[in-house]
Amino acid sequence: MTDAPYRGRFAPSPTGPLHAGSLLAALGSWVLARQAGGEWHVRIEDIDPPRTVTGAARAQLAALAAFGLRHDGPVVRQSQRGGLYQAALDHLLASGQAFECHCSRSVLADAGGIHRRCVRHQRRPDPAVRLRVPDGCGIAFDDAVFGHQHQYVDTAVGDFVLRRSDGLWAYQLAVVVDDAAQGITDVVRGADLLDSTPRQILLQRALGLPTPRYAHLPLVLDADGRKLSKSDAALPVSTAAPVATLAMLWRRLGQENLPPSALAGVDAFLQAATQAFRLDRVPHAPPPASSAMHNANATQHA
Ligand code: GLU
Repeated sequence: MTDAPYRGRFAPSPTGPLHAGSLLAALGSWVLARQAGGEWHVRIEDIDPPRTVTGAARAQLAALAAFGLRHDGPVVRQSQRGGLYQAALDHLLASGQAFECHCSRSVLADAGGIHRRCVRHQRRPDPAVRLRVPDGCGIAFDDAVFGHQHQYVDTAVGDFVLRRSDGLWAYQLAVVVDDAAQGITDVVRGADLLDSTPRQILLQRALGLPTPRYAHLPLVLDADGRKLSKSDAALPVSTAAPVATLAMLWRRLGQENLPPSALAGVDAFLQAATQAFRLDRVPHAPPPASSAMHNANATQHA
């Protein structure tokens, strides 16, 4: 891993207002970046127009500001970075690490949606592009919260989509290209993406890019360590009482109460939080069994 100065990021998809789960990821990644004396960048992941909600990015940025989570540098928008993704894809195609795939979803259904080789059938005018995942491709990494992780990418996900058959960029490719282009050293995000990380590390290696450090934060525990219902976790966060909301998220991150002076305002809270945060207190309940939306989407549009 790199000795480069710490650079963290928060990368919301503008699919709706900021909810408690994403604000928890924003808070955790912000505090860790500030604790390390590093930078914290915001990237709007708006590469999926059908899922993008008009005005959501603006609302998310306003919410971050209301919670005192100031970012460094300009906000980056993935919708404006197609050239970077295309260059990466061209490289992978030219080196034989990626291939055009004409398989439809239905022909992959028998294999549980996992692509290992193309099934002979009609060519499509709009092939997807997939990364070729070698047999026995085991990827390991140490997550700062969840510990040692290992996945056989070939059997767990197979050859995965980089550009979808509808022409849209897959999350996995865009996130890897952008994390490297923005010099991100530390990815701190929700545990729903823990099982995407091996794919991202594999892609980094295929593209000759560095691998950042990873810390995945639990999304779904309430103050008593109970699983939060999906609908509660998806509720938009209210900016009416920002310190109370930050304090609630702080407890969900397993942190000890801050002194009363921290409750004076968001800046006081964040300053105290930056001093007090302990990564080793973050609970690491098993990550949700189901894959993140991105995975489901990539398969849908294969
Ligand atoms: N855009 C993704 C999301 O909103 C997060 C991507 C990431 O942090 O790697 O779930």
